[in-house]
Amino acid sequence: MNEKNSTAERLEGSLVAENIREALRPRIDAFVTTAQRAPRLGLLLAGDDAGSEVYVRNKILQSEKLGMETDLRRLSASATFSEAMAVVQEFNANLTVDGILVQSPLPRSMGNDAEQRIFDAIDPKKDVDGFNPRNVGRLVQNRATLVPCTPAGIVMLLDRQGVDVSGKHAVVIGRSDIVGKPMAMLLLHRHATVTICHSRTSNLKSIAASADLLVAAVGRPCFVTAEFVKNGAVVIDVGINPMTVREDIVEIFGESSKKVQAFDRRGQVLVGDVHPGVNNVAGGLTPVPGGVGPLTIAMLLSNTVSAAEARLRDSKLSVK
Ligand code: NDP
Repeated sequence: MNEKNSTAERLEGSLVAENIREALRPRIDAFVTTAQRAPRLGLLLAGDDAGSEVYVRNKILQSEKLGMETDLRRLSASATFSEAMAVVQEFNANLTVDGILVQSPLPRSMGNDAEQRIFDAIDPKKDVDGFNPRNVGRLVQNRATLVPCTPAGIVMLLDRQGVDVSGKHAVVIGRSDIVGKPMAMLLLHRHATVTICHSRTSNLKSIAASADLLVAAVGRPCFVTAEFVKNGAVVIDVGINPMTVREDIVEIFGESSKKVQAFDRRGQVLVGDVHPGVNNVAGGLTPVPGGVGPLTIAMLLSNTVSAAEARLRDSKLSVK
């Protein structure tokens, strides 16, 4: 949060994520020694959303790299809500499942409130996404153990970068249950003065431009331009947005940019909510990819290990 006149420092989430994962190894070893089994994550993937396939594959790969076990249940796009609920109930009852992750979005045919009803049903002790109302309440009261992974990862990044938000103005653009709201709560607990903005906010630009810390969780490619950002502010780009039109990518990033090169190879690129011009104004900025995304997965693994340890402590038994 210093005055600056050069390019923003790149806040490498992937390096912090690596540190988080390495710190989990001795905890996993200790758990295996005591419980005589590895921590296990149960995953439900319903439907055929391409993004969800990639996210779930990454979560499984990274869990298994650390020596954790996974149990993936797949349901087709035409599966019913009851079938999804049955998987969750089975994971709840299974003594060897420590964490439960239901990949969002669930198929539309399951109904508008399907995700909330599923989150409501997950055993709070296995709720590694932190979306169950009991864990949301504990977060509000600043006594949460399982905190939503994306905001928890951002807080880790800020800590590792030595960014102290106490007394500072933090602006969060976005008020979703999975990112915006829990992010605001975590920053509040760290004594920031927090403003939450959303699609009905008036004077969004000027509010954002008064922030020492700006978190963009909007879901709109390159929405946050330099005008939104105070000189030297720390900017966290949560957005993951696919861009598929070459001309649009050229216009934003330039013909010779890495993004255009990546587009030419793959026919699509992922961009954040923050415009590259913010680099000329911000003090620090997370890249996309390589910023918040890896932190989110690292915190999922961390929550799974924490859930496994807590369940082991609670049971005082070696479950097999
Ligand atoms: P949601 O769509 O649930 O929420 C978006 C929020 O942005 C809403 O609160 C919405 O306001 C607000 N918003 C939309 N348009 C505007 C606007 N023009 N001005 C101000 N506010 C606006 O998205 P999520 O929170 O789930 O995700 C946000 C982004 O983060 C997405 O790109 C998603 O892919 C990404 N993401 C990345 C993760 C990671 O690991 N890096 C993890 C999770 C999400 P309103 O409430 O009024 O509609």
